[in-house]
Amino acid sequence: MLGLMQDWPLLCHRILEHAAAIHGNQEVVTRSVEGPIVRTTYKQVYERALKVSQALDKDGIKLGDRIATIAWNTTRHLECWYGIMGIGAVCHTVNPRLFPEQIAWIVNHAQDRIVITDLTFVPVLEQVAAKLPSVERFVILTDKAHMPQTSLKNAIAYEDWIGECDGDFKWKTFDENTAAAMCYTSGTTGDPKGVLYSHRSNVIHSLMANSKDALGTSSADAMLPVVPLFHANSWGIAFSAPAMGTKLVMPGPKLDGASVYELLNTENVTCTAGVPTVWLMLLNYMSQNNLKLPHLKFLVCGGSAMPRSMIKAFVDMGVEVRHAWGMTEMSPLGTLGALKPPFSSATGEERLDVLQLQGYPPFGVQMKITDDAGRELPWDGKTFGRLKVSGPAVSKAYYRIDNKILDEDGFFDTGDVATIDEHGYMRITDRSKDVIKSGGEWISSIDLENLAVAHPAVAEAAVIGVHHPKWDERPLLIVQLKQGQNASREDILKFMEGKIAKWWMPDDVAFVDGIPHTATGKILKTALRDQFKSYSFPNAAA
Ligand code: AMP
Repeated sequence: MLGLMQDWPLLCHRILEHAAAIHGNQEVVTRSVEGPIVRTTYKQVYERALKVSQALDKDGIKLGDRIATIAWNTTRHLECWYGIMGIGAVCHTVNPRLFPEQIAWIVNHAQDRIVITDLTFVPVLEQVAAKLPSVERFVILTDKAHMPQTSLKNAIAYEDWIGECDGDFKWKTFDENTAAAMCYTSGTTGDPKGVLYSHRSNVIHSLMANSKDALGTSSADAMLPVVPLFHANSWGIAFSAPAMGTKLVMPGPKLDGASVYELLNTENVTCTAGVPTVWLMLLNYMSQNNLKLPHLKFLVCGGSAMPRSMIKAFVDMGVEVRHAWGMTEMSPLGTLGALKPPFSSATGEERLDVLQLQGYPPFGVQMKITDDAGRELPWDGKTFGRLKVSGPAVSKAYYRIDNKILDEDGFFDTGDVATIDEHGYMRITDRSKDVIKSGGEWISSIDLENLAVAHPAVAEAAVIGVHHPKWDERPLLIVQLKQGQNASREDILKFMEGKIAKWWMPDDVAFVDGIPHTATGKILKTALRDQFKSYSFPNAAA
């Protein structure tokens, strides 16, 4: 017997329709690429998003066509998201921090028909435009007054493009399983892989994101997503904030400590989300200038492990810190570290211990850890295994790649290595390709990095496995010191001693001026392995 409820497809654009109808006057504030702060409302975002749909329709864009956006977090970018999805086209967010050749590869693989981009990226796109045969036009997110001279094909200023439309347009209704958006994983090896979200998966993900123990904002909050719209859906905030009528504060191109601080402070931001590197810049700026953030209540940090010292710095300011883990293939939220009983009343170091874990999944994500043969491992908080996940907002295949990515139970292998404890809290110990295999046992590079950055002179640390004739691999700790600070190899090793098992201690410490990062701010271990490929340990005599 079937239920007797209405067919009401879960479509992304319904979220903005809801925001315009119920929270129409709620503000959306942007630091524009041109410079000034621009203020608008959900009602205006909705009206202009309809014009985007109309402009795309006039340009002949149909259901399923891919439209690329290569753009910062701004209101215009948000309007484009909803305008593209509202006619059933696919909003393909491209990460502008990739090399021009990678951008070209991705646009060609997706066969994007239109590229919508910011002024910032016009020069980069001009370099590769001749290699983008599928692209029929470029829309530059600016007005006539700021429109540059450009060789980009059929280029038009965004305000002129939507200015030709009257907004008398209705969004379409179609199957909720229709593709809505696409994002390529910024893999450190091999070609990027396209993740294709559906309307249904995005709407379900935004409901998951909006639960109180996840991102859980309300209409009384102001949210500043530092995490870009081009990094795994800005962790769903472009959907979850309008769904709740949360004020949105978009940081545009300026993500340095001073600029983020200014917006957090002047716009009375209560919640924010971003990767650890962003928070490091903010904390440095605040401590150098002796500043406080009286309005900030809640900070989400993910994309890489959040160091304990950073968690403590925000906790000491009275900010509720939520460590999150996820990935592009998961839309991206996987787990979040809210403090549930029996930890809700934990204090001091014990509280930090729990906050440092990557957390537990909201309803809608199932997880397990297995050994290499696929056998499930116990949830004892100690045993490491391959972390596998399933759920309605988890990928089942990559775009135009014909290989099986799920196991026989329908779980996706995240490529991460983790422990899970009896309360369901997960802790990432490594990427499976980064874990250090020493004498048949695994050493977590992340645990060593977290410990090393707690040293007061260390700005950033990375650990890689280096060949060892006896143990197969041993950890090499690579350290970037804080400006003006000094610490020797011995100082750092002494600091780590006693805090980890003896056999986990790095065999050596190498000092570097800078640690390389991927386009999404993660430590680029492939580059470090390359840099240290001829390194051998002083103690490595067989
Ligand atoms: P991306 O698809 O670019 O978001 O990258 C996903 C990967 O980032 C995950 O598979 C993890 O390896 C890593 N990651 C994300 N969040 C965290 C976290 N909180 N701690 C450690 N690693 C993380």
